[in-house]
Amino acid sequence: MMNEDSCTMLANMKKQLEEFEHFFFLECENTHDILSLTQKLKVAIDLKLKNDCAHVYVEDEIDLSPEKSKKITYCEKCMSCFSGKPGSS
Ligand SMILES: [Zn+2]
Repeated sequence: MMNEDSCTMLANMKKQLEEFEHFFFLECENTHDILSLTQKLKVAIDLKLKNDCAHVYVEDEIDLSPEKSKKITYCEKCMSCFSGKPGSS
């Protein structure tokens, strides 16, 4: 198990990667290589978090449209999302 600080650090790193991707996408022409790299990094971080975080599950609903909403479960420590019941994947 990772300690809480490592979880938070990895979750923040993922968020920063997403911001970096967004920036790169807007500012640069040849984005393919760097985006495939950040994609790989995000997958690796996700895997590490999902396997090693001592998850604290929170259930929430997200609105897809004014009439439709979807139940999601996420971990409040690492912000990983889980579809369906935790542990069943
Ligand atoms: Zn977690």
